Amino acid sequence: MSLRRPASVTDDFLRALVARVPSSDGGTWKLTEVYTGELLVELPQSTEADIERAFATARAAQAEWAARPLKKRLEVFKRAHALFLERAQITTDLIQVESGKNRRMAIEETCDPVMVMSHYLKRAPRLLAPVKRGGPIPFLTTSTEIRQPKGVVGIIAPWNFPFATGISDSISALMAGNAIVLKPDNKTALSPLYGIQLLEEAGLPKGLFQVVCGEGPDVGPTLIDHANYVMFTGSTATGRVIGERAGRNLIGCCLELGGKNPMIVLEDADLADVVQGAIFGAFGNTGQICMHIERMYLPETRYAEFRDAFVAATERLLLGASYDFGPDMGSLVSPDHMERVRSHVDDAVAKGATVLTGGRPRPDLGPAFFEPTILEGVTTDMLAGVTETFGPVVALHRYRTVDEAIELANDTDYGLNASVWGSDVATACQVGMRIHSGNVNVNDILATAFAAKGTPSGGVKQSGVGGRHGDQGMLKYTDVQNLAVLKKQVMGARPGQDYDEYVKGMLGGLRMMRKAGIR
Ligand code: NAD
Repeated sequence: MSLRRPASVTDDFLRALVARVPSSDGGTWKLTEVYTGELLVELPQSTEADIERAFATARAAQAEWAARPLKKRLEVFKRAHALFLERAQITTDLIQVESGKNRRMAIEETCDPVMVMSHYLKRAPRLLAPVKRGGPIPFLTTSTEIRQPKGVVGIIAPWNFPFATGISDSISALMAGNAIVLKPDNKTALSPLYGIQLLEEAGLPKGLFQVVCGEGPDVGPTLIDHANYVMFTGSTATGRVIGERAGRNLIGCCLELGGKNPMIVLEDADLADVVQGAIFGAFGNTGQICMHIERMYLPETRYAEFRDAFVAATERLLLGASYDFGPDMGSLVSPDHMERVRSHVDDAVAKGATVLTGGRPRPDLGPAFFEPTILEGVTTDMLAGVTETFGPVVALHRYRTVDEAIELANDTDYGLNASVWGSDVATACQVGMRIHSGNVNVNDILATAFAAKGTPSGGVKQSGVGGRHGDQGMLKYTDVQNLAVLKKQVMGARPGQDYDEYVKGMLGGLRMMRKAGIR
């Protein structure tokens, strides 16, 4: 294991990356390496005037981009797909220095935009093609559904998957003819900035993809007020603020929010598979995945067997700060976030929960490390029982009947993801369909649903509005234009026409068309 910064992450490289972020008053924010707390680069902070200029530049570039034939626009993404894979190691280095996640999760993150590109390269020509719907009178009229780009899309991204949420969510918007103004989280602006550099290397016109940086409440309002659509990923609390402002401006928004995701293990589940799944579900990305598992429901009959195997497997996990593939789990994103995770565990313990393993910060490894933690006896009066912890902390619960397990899984304001495990897949699917959740994975935690780019993925209840992926993941960035043509002026009463005769003709026509199955 080594703590030497990756060779690609030089001061010159980082300074060049952040140079595209505007800051007319010279304000900066100290972006640090998570494992050491050392300064990586001074990140420019954008003022209101900077944000307005970013929108003006993006809007000018968008007009020319939208006028390009779709085929030409897609060529950029064919080249980008190859380039993103070619440079995946550099992207991985950046994701790791800014987020502190382990290398496996960082390199997996680099695959997401590539998968999204691949899907929409195939699907966009059909989705964006004009669709002839037929007019009200056969032969005489036509009505065609045209997909027009919204204009400039504002994207607000979180720190937990900065490259995936910053870049992947922009791809279908750009393909559809939009420009982007992205606001990444200050902590994790480097990897999305690199993604934009790669897109431009692949031929994306300069100016089309703008980045502004700053604290959310400073940058957010101006960004939303200038955008034609907002794509937000982050916490439920912030999502409500974004949704309210978008609503006031009468623009659309997609809100991808938090979760308190349950995992139900059925009697016939394969224990070894469940333990392996649970390790990733609870501790993958150091528990900072919106779709990760914070609550596990186990049949009473198999509870002890699972608990012991899960605790043993958790205690074998290697934690550490390394840019190699060694550690199974990396750091939390910041000391502040570590304190939040710690406060959930302390609160649970103070109210009677038991720590089966973990439960402590690990300052010996780095400023934001926290042990993988398994709790027992968590109740809904505890923070860890009801609100999203967003760290490597999971609570085990027993159930007696499957109905009880489903009821407990649904006893939450969230509805982002759920995981159901059982050897009888049909039964597991029946259970899954009774959970109020936008995503349900059977015999997996989250990857199967999230990597299925052809199916929309989003939260229900307090976990979100709208979704990414699937047809709606591209169509949401477009306005429908109903282009209708009347070939000859025959509709409506002609001057001097007998009114009774006109009504009779019109109603008779409707009757006839219904009989003929036309309308
Ligand atoms: P957050 O809501 O604090 O911040 C998300 C982004 O919003 C950041 O860029 C932040 O600067 C910005 N922001 C904060 N306040 C703002 C405001 N008033 N106006 C405009 N922008 C504002 O969330 P976070 O802590 O950075 O991210 C973790 C959360 O994101 C978790 O709840 C997690 O579940 C959720 N998440 C959801 C998904 C999903 O797809 N559903 C994916 C990843 C993360």
